[in-house]
Amino acid sequence: MTRVFNFSAGPAVLPEAVLRRAADEMLDWQGSGMSVMEMSHRGPEFMGIHARTEDLLRELLDIPSSYKVLFMQGGAIGENAIVPMNLIGRSGRADYVDTGDWSKRSLTEARKYGTVQIAASAEASKFTAVPKQSTWKLDPGAAYVHICSNETIGGVEYHWTPDTGAVPLVADMSSNILSRPIDVRRYGLIYAGAQKNMGPSGLTVVIVRDDLLGHALPITPTAFNYKVQAENDSMYNTPPTYAIYIAGLVCQHIKAQGGLAAVEQHNRAKAKLLYDFLDGSSFFRNEIAREDRSLMNVPFKLRDESLNDTFLQGAQARGMVQLKGHRSVGGMRASIYNAMPIAGVQALVAYLQDFEREHG
Ligand SMILES: *Cc1c(COP(=O)(O)O)cnc(C)c1O
Repeated sequence: MTRVFNFSAGPAVLPEAVLRRAADEMLDWQGSGMSVMEMSHRGPEFMGIHARTEDLLRELLDIPSSYKVLFMQGGAIGENAIVPMNLIGRSGRADYVDTGDWSKRSLTEARKYGTVQIAASAEASKFTAVPKQSTWKLDPGAAYVHICSNETIGGVEYHWTPDTGAVPLVADMSSNILSRPIDVRRYGLIYAGAQKNMGPSGLTVVIVRDDLLGHALPITPTAFNYKVQAENDSMYNTPPTYAIYIAGLVCQHIKAQGGLAAVEQHNRAKAKLLYDFLDGSSFFRNEIAREDRSLMNVPFKLRDESLNDTFLQGAQARGMVQLKGHRSVGGMRASIYNAMPIAGVQALVAYLQDFEREHG
């Protein structure tokens, strides 16, 4: 068996230890005689798995008891509608900060449910930087302010937490949740699809402050009503049980590594290795403002783009896959989530060096 270095933006690499454990437990989960996939979501075995996954998430992210943790379906793109359906009703208006492809998709969808104002946009920088808070025009009557904490396609990440006063801050953290410690108390709501840093696709984690529940628009589908899901421990409908189990194993793995502070150090070391190389190269470049560069998704371009296919084929031959940039921006992108080992980034940098020497 050979495992590649998988730089996919998502679904993405998972810790090998987690996959091995899941393989060991596939046919018989801890003497139950069943796979987790075969368990009733209301049976004692799965209820335990579900509760432990939530406890671990609460512990790792230091989630206060005044927040609910919901395990939902629909992904972050589903949340683009589910968030306004649940929250915008308080005033009918919401502020969105546009930092790139994902935040744009969020605000476009939200327009179906209320009045959306773009409080700040990264357009002036061609989406290569997070707009400084001093430029934001916030509406004090907005029901919430929405940001995307890490633009998975553009490679722009917030390394600070916006201050939105009494207006709840809502963040799409799909591609950087669990990559470093955060202060959940600064947010009203956090949502994230699992398939970047938490587990397989199919699970969406929503962390929501209690006082934001109960304002859903009447059209909100019951299965997507946060209050209903909170009252039913995320079991109003059948939750994505196997994905919850794997997310629990990922959380255990993170805890065993020393928690999110240790994970952040590891992620910073990996990103530095790659950005330092790109900054010193005359053949490859990353165009994002230094202070806003993503630690998770590193887009880069070749000086001679006619070599893109040659570059990707050479990477594949060295066991490095999924380096092609998103179709909307072209170029390359290395996603270096928690589970990407430093050896993967070292192998990539070594390849970049060799490629530059040969073609630069
Ligand atoms: C991947 C991603 C999404 C899309 O998630 P789906 O699971 O396809 O709904 C949305 N936002 C961000 C920031 C992402 O990284």
